[in-house]
Amino acid sequence: MRKLVAQKLVVATHNHGKLEEIAALLAPFGVEAVSAGQLGLPEPVETEDNFIGNARIKAHAAAKATGLPALADDSGISVDALGGAPGVYTADWAETPDGRDFVMAMTDTWARVQESGAVAPFTAQFNCTLVLAWPDGHDEVFEGVMQGQLTWPMRGNQGHGYDPIFQPDGYDITFGEMDRWEKNKISHRARAFEAFVRQCLEGAST
Ligand code: IMP
Repeated sequence: MRKLVAQKLVVATHNHGKLEEIAALLAPFGVEAVSAGQLGLPEPVETEDNFIGNARIKAHAAAKATGLPALADDSGISVDALGGAPGVYTADWAETPDGRDFVMAMTDTWARVQESGAVAPFTAQFNCTLVLAWPDGHDEVFEGVMQGQLTWPMRGNQGHGYDPIFQPDGYDITFGEMDRWEKNKISHRARAFEAFVRQCLEGAST
């Protein structure tokens, strides 16, 4: 496992919220984060059919363009009754000509689960894959998974995306009903970041 010893890292995102979250995580290790958006880098097309492949595309494009290590993430929800769909296409299922509509996407997902003939519990998982890529082509992959089940009707308005219909294992509330701070401690994203920090940052000297 290669450690991150550089003092500057590109976060391969155009989403300011993601940059802030990652910058706060890196700061205690003396690593400064800049985003691909701030550097004016183009967003590469995500052509792979799996989370690792798409995170790799984003991380390597940013590392190559800047000469700095780059961190990218890819995430989504996979529903067992739907053979793992929407998976990497989670955000795509919410696309409309006027922007993303997650109520539509959740309604559609629930309808498909009903049509599938599957019986409850409708197991599903959120995945988050992080890839740290270096300009020399090396990369390291970190994955976080949160198991749970789909539930209907939608409940809660604390989160985003598919949160109102996802009930994580061990809880009787949905991600949408969960306090944000609590969710950020236990989520698939938290798990992937914990692995990244533990394996790549802790013990690395700049
Ligand atoms: P991306 O990784 O930014 O491309 O996001 C993929 C999509 O997965 C998002 O648009 C969300 O719909 C969904 N997603 C990922 N993580 C979560 C989560 O924690 N809650 C709800 N939806 C999520």
